Amino acid sequence: MIKTDLLTSHITHLECAVSKKKFSHLEIQTFSASDEEGWKSPLYAKYGSLKNIDITVLKDRVSSLWRYFEFLPVLNPENVVSLGEGMTPVIKLENLGKQLEIPNLFLKDESLNPTGSFKARGQAVAVSKMKELGINRCIVPTAGNAGGALAAYCAKANIDVTVVMPRHTPEIFKLECQYFGAELILVDGLISDCGKVVAEMRSKGDYFDVSTMKEPYRLEGKKTMGFEIAEQMNWELPDVIFYPTGGGTGLIGIWKAFHEMKEAGWITGKFPKMIAVQTANCQPIVWSFEGKHESSAGYRAKASVANGLAVPFPFAEKQIFQVLKESEGYAISVSEEELMVGTKSLAKNEGLFVAPEGGALLPAMIKAIENKWISADDKILLLNTGSAYKYAENFK
Ligand SMILES: *Cc1c(COP(=O)(O)O)cnc(C)c1O
Repeated sequence: MIKTDLLTSHITHLECAVSKKKFSHLEIQTFSASDEEGWKSPLYAKYGSLKNIDITVLKDRVSSLWRYFEFLPVLNPENVVSLGEGMTPVIKLENLGKQLEIPNLFLKDESLNPTGSFKARGQAVAVSKMKELGINRCIVPTAGNAGGALAAYCAKANIDVTVVMPRHTPEIFKLECQYFGAELILVDGLISDCGKVVAEMRSKGDYFDVSTMKEPYRLEGKKTMGFEIAEQMNWELPDVIFYPTGGGTGLIGIWKAFHEMKEAGWITGKFPKMIAVQTANCQPIVWSFEGKHESSAGYRAKASVANGLAVPFPFAEKQIFQVLKESEGYAISVSEEELMVGTKSLAKNEGLFVAPEGGALLPAMIKAIENKWISADDKILLLNTGSAYKYAENFK
């Protein structure tokens, strides 16, 4: 349970990621439609007086992402909708570390979140803010996990939810939405095609759109992974983080968290290199990184067994790219075969049944060491985003 006395959010406003134009956090907001170049851009929650937040506040806090309440956007603790998300373990990969001669190899296991993925973090905070702002009907396009997580938190918060999902998604992703009481719409195509259906439905009805990065608060939930990485690793950040990138919320969020903790004086020193991992079937960020296209607008993607990576046109593409640049990181893709080899290797060697998105990190890490982008002596963290159980019908 959350102890609700003395909890105060330090949020001051929202800000356009590009133009820095300010928006009120006291009203319902989506994204910024009017940045300098006429692009649509995400809004970032901004916090003040971070230096006044003493690190010792964590001592008495709940073991969930709500322990970082000052850095979260919910004003009244009574609006928190929680299923126990966050504070997932950081596990040392001892067997693989020995085999690959990487003495400091760790994995943060997000599969243990409610509904089996880190999407729970984003949706817990987004739904809590919906409750706070009086929103009672929402809609989301999803590759699978975001829809299930949103449906679960909406069930708890008594908010009507419509989930729009590719028809080819494994059955359990659909079933959980229905059990949670969501309206489920199946679409032939990828999440981008689901996005079109969402736009059409919003033109006819009054739905709040919880699409990745078009709503400001899922990012705030996902950034708590950055806080936990720091706290669980004794406030000494890893040298490198491998992150399976679809819409990029986690990547951008973790980077945001590092800056906020630095401002609060909770961490010092160099931030990790952030490495975005994608599948060869859908690698728009890798192509941008390698200069193969200007933007993902015309990118042609295929479906992936790692459905969370099948995001052809990430809304926050420019912001993802910026994190890679600022962190001196990289973008790298692996084949569908390679990501399943990684999934099997983590299972057999470490007893971890990770989502194929997480499985992709292992071959990506091996390539990054071969390319000399990173060293086997680096402290390396793989961020496994989900559980294999939901995907298993596609496994051989
Ligand atoms: C959504 C999802 C991703 C991609 O996450 P982003 O933060 O949107 O890049 C990766 N893995 C899994 C399991 C997912 O559900």
